[in-house]
Amino acid sequence: MDAIDPADTLTCLRSGHAAGPIMPPIVQASLFRFETLEELFAAQDREHETSVYSRGTNPTVRELETALAALERAEAAKCFASGMGAISATLFALLGQGDHVLFCGDIYGPTIGFAQRLEGYGVSHSRCFAADIDGIEAALTPATRLIYLESPGSMRFELLPIEQVCALAKARGILTAIDNTVATPLLQKPLALGCDLALHSLTKYIGGHSDTLGGAVAGSRELVERIFYRAYMPMGAAMAPFDAWLLLRGLMTLPARLAQQQADALAVARWLADHPKVRRVFHPALAEGAQADLFARQMRGHSGLFSTEFDLPDHAATLAIGNRLKLFGKAISWGGVESLVTSPHRRDPGSEQEGRMPRTLLRLSVGLEGADALIADLEQALA
Ligand code: PLP
Repeated sequence: MDAIDPADTLTCLRSGHAAGPIMPPIVQASLFRFETLEELFAAQDREHETSVYSRGTNPTVRELETALAALERAEAAKCFASGMGAISATLFALLGQGDHVLFCGDIYGPTIGFAQRLEGYGVSHSRCFAADIDGIEAALTPATRLIYLESPGSMRFELLPIEQVCALAKARGILTAIDNTVATPLLQKPLALGCDLALHSLTKYIGGHSDTLGGAVAGSRELVERIFYRAYMPMGAAMAPFDAWLLLRGLMTLPARLAQQQADALAVARWLADHPKVRRVFHPALAEGAQADLFARQMRGHSGLFSTEFDLPDHAATLAIGNRLKLFGKAISWGGVESLVTSPHRRDPGSEQEGRMPRTLLRLSVGLEGADALIADLEQALA
């Protein structure tokens, strides 16, 4: 199997589009004029798909939404000002007083932070770190309305049995949503595995150049419309047309960037796995057993993001390795063309508090510098 579906490459390039400008115009308009008030009001009735006011629909943003829906094999997609805009709007739109959401896997911290805010509005949540269906089933409650997954999960890149979880949820009338940012829609198709909604921070690989924020949700027309009217319009985290244009440009090179970053990250991860100062590498392609089976079944490959647990005495020694790296920028985000390094711990958690995130862990985001240069950099930092 090709690492990337050739049909997706054509979607990213928007190949075969009608004659005209290769790049879509940036429609820098906050509102749109109609011939008559009747036409305006009719358009307002379909504001989720008609350009009336750019806090709802804008033609440049819609071009990006069309491409993302195609990549996710979804009926519809909606873009937001950031990944957290998409995530918070989805949770806000789908959950109400008395509902429970189950978070499975290592979830991006601010997503849990938002769920904590929702507690004040009568929405409860719990977390489940089991990677098997029995463990996940046991964590459901009679009030569970949504199962929210992150696979690969943040920092440890653990995989969840998406197909099984979604089948279980469907049988119980529970919705499922997954944060698909790490895999991108090119390397994992959650909707084809049964998920109702796929969420993205477009800020990462899709933008790809660390210069734009963006988020998206993709799913059925009905669910995306529900999120649009209940949360997108009232909360107002709309994507700007210029950001959509930058993201459309990012999409054009996404397949090529991902292929390179995927290959280079795997080479770096394999080199690290053999290094005497490394305890463990968290990379789905290097996993064994049930995790390896899931990787083969539900992913076409892994992107350029992974973590390494070092055989070092403490947090300070780990940060010192990170600081000695010359080609890896010290920055929090990931998915751009420049390599980055960070730790999950801002402060030393101590051995008792480190929990699932070892204090000697560093996360690496592999850019486009080339595997040999990055390995040489790691070699000097670990010497
Ligand atoms: N989901 C994951 C897995 C992330 O890593 C991030 C950001 O780091 C987000 C969502 C949030 O995206 P944004 O920063 O675009 O709001």
